[in-house]
Amino acid sequence: MARRKQIYEGKAKILFEGPEPGTIIQYFKDDATAFNNQKHAILEGKGVLNNRISEFIMLGLERIGIPTHFIKRLNMREQLVRHVEIVPLEVVVRNTAAGSISKRLGLEDGTTLPRSIIEFYYKDDKLGDPLIAEEHITAFNWANPQEIDDMMALALRINDYLSGMFGAVGIKLVDFKVEFGRQYEGDLMRLIVADEISPDSCRLWDAETGDIMDKDRFRKDMGDVTTAYREVARRLGVLRETENSGAKGPVLVSDNGE
Ligand code: UDP
Repeated sequence: MARRKQIYEGKAKILFEGPEPGTIIQYFKDDATAFNNQKHAILEGKGVLNNRISEFIMLGLERIGIPTHFIKRLNMREQLVRHVEIVPLEVVVRNTAAGSISKRLGLEDGTTLPRSIIEFYYKDDKLGDPLIAEEHITAFNWANPQEIDDMMALALRINDYLSGMFGAVGIKLVDFKVEFGRQYEGDLMRLIVADEISPDSCRLWDAETGDIMDKDRFRKDMGDVTTAYREVARRLGVLRETENSGAKGPVLVSDNGE
């Protein structure tokens, strides 16, 4: 493989310079981290599954007119994406109480929220990604009021799309996190969906049994993390029906020649 310049290494992904200006290659690692990096493990096959699931979701968003950074999948672990200026915020949409909102507001996990709630967290590992208000975002110029409006509108459209998509395969979308990037085209700037959307960044519960099918299995030491991710992929039709039960690594429906 030709040598490529690494731009950045994160907790679950590595970014390399892309083949053309304005592009980068996003490599999905098997690393799982939680609690601001205090917990770490290698979950064999996770990167392959998240690459496929995120591709599937980004293509779905593009189909309904939501712009994303996704260009194409390159191989089992890599996708070509547009180079963007990342807005330093994690935008979380919640439908059901779980995780930090349950603790913060004293809600029982599983409580249906009165309406979908959008929260902003400031992306800063040293600070543990603190919850912030719009006041902080505009005062520190992390995004302007128009961008906040746009991110909120997009986040709600993504929530509607994902809730329907997962609901159709018997999965309840409890909450998810999305990141946005600024793409510049001449004088024009637009916000597009960046990073990844996968079981690492969503809470997904089996609609019938309530079984957890996302990264909480890792956070809570429940085991069978990749098995659950594989089941999400299988239900979405990303993996071959016959390959769902094997303990071996995920098998792809089609691949670009590896
Ligand atoms: N989330 C994420 N990255 C983060 C923090 C949260 O992808 O750095 C996702 C998480 O998987 C969940 C949602 O955002 O789907 C809400 O997470 P929460 O605020 O409850 O935090 P947690 O309980 O994960 O610490």
